Amino acid sequence: HKHVQMASARHADDEEMRSSESLLYDLSPLRAATYNFSEENKLGEGGFGPVYKGTLQNGQDIAVKRLSATSQQGQLEMKNEVFLLAKLQHRNLVRLLGCCIEERERLLVYEFLTNSSLDKILFDPARQHELSWGQRHKIIEGIGRGLLYLHEDSRLTIIHRDLKASNILLDADMNPKISDFGLAKLFSIDSSVGNTSRIAGTYGYMAPEYALHGIFSAKSDVFSNGVLVLEIVTGRRNTFTQDSGPSEDLLTRVWRHWSRGNVRDLLDGCPAEGRRPQEVLRCVHVGLLCVQEDPQFRPSMASVVIMLNSRSI
Ligand code: ADP
Repeated sequence: HKHVQMASARHADDEEMRSSESLLYDLSPLRAATYNFSEENKLGEGGFGPVYKGTLQNGQDIAVKRLSATSQQGQLEMKNEVFLLAKLQHRNLVRLLGCCIEERERLLVYEFLTNSSLDKILFDPARQHELSWGQRHKIIEGIGRGLLYLHEDSRLTIIHRDLKASNILLDADMNPKISDFGLAKLFSIDSSVGNTSRIAGTYGYMAPEYALHGIFSAKSDVFSNGVLVLEIVTGRRNTFTQDSGPSEDLLTRVWRHWSRGNVRDLLDGCPAEGRRPQEVLRCVHVGLLCVQEDPQFRPSMASVVIMLNSRSI
């Protein structure tokens, strides 16, 4: 991991506020910064451990992720996240500002995103009306561009492997940013399909070839993107699990309505005001193309982005 310089933090004794004069490794350009965060300002609990709100010395808000247990897997995922995110910069990817990796403390520092994660709004019946059709469409497009950048435009091939609503963060303008690169994989130019015996991710978003055989590629991310598109349009979570019958699966439900031509019945979780029927149909169509069983038939993210903006489908 020689591309990433790990800086160490020296903590002040102050219990309440951890004000460390640490060298924060700002990935581009390199600069020293101090930051602080209070354990009272907890934003949530993630796979790594707790996430706190904090500030940089210049007043910029930040989110600080702390690895709670020193599990081997957690440490690997954390290093993977730093290793990959350090190479990337795009308006639809969360920015990693720095990290602190020392024996007693492991922290990742990100830009702070005011509107938290998409799942918290989209799947909350009391809040989902806050996401207008226009915002949903913008979120779908932004995720598409972020994923296209990962797959092709960053000149690297990166497969995210854990794309889901809780890994989409929203800034103050509801611009989406893909986060959580703990499971992401970097491919070289001449290989773009991976195989693993350790199938990690979230079942409802997993492509069948990945869930069943551990095979992943850009097309398995495309599948997850399709699930996400259909969730955003309908405001319903794909609750499919290994034990669910097919009737409970969001994808089956959308497909049934689509083939009968009554997509409107799917939209009870999406405000009617400002909804554009043509755009809704285009998004559902794109979502269904992405979740096809055979990865070869799924479009690339480049095609997805073009289709979302095309008026001819
Ligand atoms: P998970 O491992 O479940 O994907 P995370 O560790 O990424 O979750 O984050 C846990 C919670 O912390 C998120 O649901 C979100 O509410 C909050 N959070 C994470 N990163 C940020 C950020 N950069 N800005 C604002 N809130 C964040």
